[in-house]
Amino acid sequence: MSRLDLKRFTFMQLMELDACTRCGECVTWCPTFAEKEQLDAITPLRKIEAVRGFVNQQYGLRARIFGARPIDETAFRTHSSGTYDCTLCGRCGVVCPVHIDTRSLWIAMREQLVDQGVYPDTMDHLRKTVTTSYNISGDDNANRLIWSQNLKQIPDGVGKKQHAETVYFVGCVASFYPQSYSVPQSMVEVLEHAGVDYMTMGGEEWCCGFPLIIAGMGDAAVECVRHNVEAVRKTGAKRLVAACPSCYHTWKDEYAHILGEPLGFEVLHATELLAEIVGKLSLKPLDDTVTYHDPCDLGRTSGIYDAPRAVIRAIPGAEFIEMADHHEYSLCCGGGGDVEMADKDLSAAVADRRVQQAADTGAKYLLSACQQCTRTLAGAARRNKVRVRSMDIVELLAKQLA
Ligand code: SF4
Ligand code: SF4
Repeated sequence: MSRLDLKRFTFMQLMELDACTRCGECVTWCPTFAEKEQLDAITPLRKIEAVRGFVNQQYGLRARIFGARPIDETAFRTHSSGTYDCTLCGRCGVVCPVHIDTRSLWIAMREQLVDQGVYPDTMDHLRKTVTTSYNISGDDNANRLIWSQNLKQIPDGVGKKQHAETVYFVGCVASFYPQSYSVPQSMVEVLEHAGVDYMTMGGEEWCCGFPLIIAGMGDAAVECVRHNVEAVRKTGAKRLVAACPSCYHTWKDEYAHILGEPLGFEVLHATELLAEIVGKLSLKPLDDTVTYHDPCDLGRTSGIYDAPRAVIRAIPGAEFIEMADHHEYSLCCGGGGDVEMADKDLSAAVADRRVQQAADTGAKYLLSACQQCTRTLAGAARRNKVRVRSMDIVELLAKQLA
């Protein structure tokens, strides 16, 4: 193993490694550790302790006097398992009394693990797939609009327009996973109903780069970032709307930073646009109870809690019930952080717990605003024979269109 590259951490992150008081509050809130207690290395506390120890061995006072000590490979491998068995849900950061930005710290740790070549093989597969196919599934990227094939009528905004005020960035999951096709189908139905001037980009849409960035392989995402921004600029759009919270966060918070310049257009999450246009929709009443799962990248990462709730409350007759954990304390669905690729069983166990919370509300619909959450929670509901219908907010809106 080569010497650790401290440049992977910001100055603030190096301070955060020292600032951790070892109080352990984060440990009790970590949803992955709750399901895999035999792997102590998952906990935020242990991840920080481990890296602080590695850094001290190589850059501490003793290292400066007597030379850097080599890192124990077994300890480094254990640290890698814990760091990749984290959904990056950010719940630990919410409860940390010294406000450590844990999610960013875990990504920096992954970057360092990639530098050292100590990471799950599945991440190599992911990198190869995204950088050669420009999507996460390895499908032919020209088929990005395959979900539109069974629409009664394909609107002009889907594949025919070259210019529009709003670009709808569909995202890899909704484009290529058949169980999610109904999200873009519903989205275009609602946009048509509200008279929005929108367009999709078809094969010119590439993966947003998020899965690579969180894998610690952000360098490999730059080509996707450059391509996507150029493609949107060519449309002359004033704004881009993403239905996937991870795409949204990457566009909103990472792209300008990676490019080193402003994008030149606004970035919205679908629920923000829906909250703006829901008053224009004519909706049938829904005589049922609904609950809402805050996607981690929409809530904790991006601070969007009100827009999805405003849309749900605008559906006449819908009775809204919060789950036990909601807003910034929301439980993760288990589908984040590339954990599904690194440890499928762990991802499923986290989802099972969240679905149980939904079942406890007695709601008929478990709504979310993320295709990945909806898919993971639907799987958990099936596995556990829980009678709750997992769907995206926009799917329910489209179902209620009068
Ligand atoms: S981000 Fe979530 S899964 Fe990862 S350590 Fe923090 S609480 Fe646990
Ligand atoms: S809550 Fe914060 S200060 Fe306490 S152990 Fe966790 S990371 Fe450290």
